[in-house]
Amino acid sequence: MTLQILTIPCLSDNYAYLAHDPATGQTAAVDVPEAAPILKALAGKGWVLSHVLITHHHYDHVDGLADLLAAAPAQVVGATADAHRLPPLDIAVTEGDTVKIGEQTGHVLDVSGHTVGHIAFHFPDSAAIFTADSLMALGCGRVFEGTMPQMWHSLQKLAVLSPETTVYSGHEYTQSNAKFALSVDPSNSALISRATAVDAARAKGQPTVPSTLAEELATNPFLRATDLDIQAHLGMVGADPADVFAEIRTRKDCF
Ligand code: ZN
Ligand code: FE
Repeated sequence: MTLQILTIPCLSDNYAYLAHDPATGQTAAVDVPEAAPILKALAGKGWVLSHVLITHHHYDHVDGLADLLAAAPAQVVGATADAHRLPPLDIAVTEGDTVKIGEQTGHVLDVSGHTVGHIAFHFPDSAAIFTADSLMALGCGRVFEGTMPQMWHSLQKLAVLSPETTVYSGHEYTQSNAKFALSVDPSNSALISRATAVDAARAKGQPTVPSTLAEELATNPFLRATDLDIQAHLGMVGADPADVFAEIRTRKDCF
């Protein structure tokens, strides 16, 4: 059996998730922008919270934690590197560590760049990864604390996972990400059709997250710094992919 995963819109554009192991009933929340929608989702499913997995310290990923724990006590898992600036952790993890949600094993990846200490949780048996503000649908998090090469290196760790992996990221930014992506990769037919599908979904108020890694590899410019069409568009044919990535990320910051 694989994890049952529920997408929970929070705040104005955040996503939290519930990941439920049907064999044992254990259930993890991934990030806690606010407590109320997560508690409502737990009650709706009749699931009992056992863990909270925190990806990084930004307020829009942790602010609801105290209220959530007051109503639904659980083990809090977060990065050792961020322990000084996260709410108290029960389990501190670093890359290579695993977290058990019932019978499901999550592998911790360090995906620093947006923040230094940002982690992702990969559940290979469920083909699921929780990436928050590292790899996002058609985008990636702004590089606030890390360096451009560090973020590129982090994204490469995700790019090599199984392409059918579902990517559960932290925000509904896909429509604006698509407009930017088209500005650096205008002749990519997969991107053009995805952008149309994203517009249609948003017009109906539907989420565009999660996505699959295969979709991201085909359309997300931040994973495509080795693509010759993108390199040509940027006047960077043959450049180091980390430099191409940095150029794309810098352009996005001013888009
Ligand atoms: Zn963030
Ligand atoms: Fe965020």
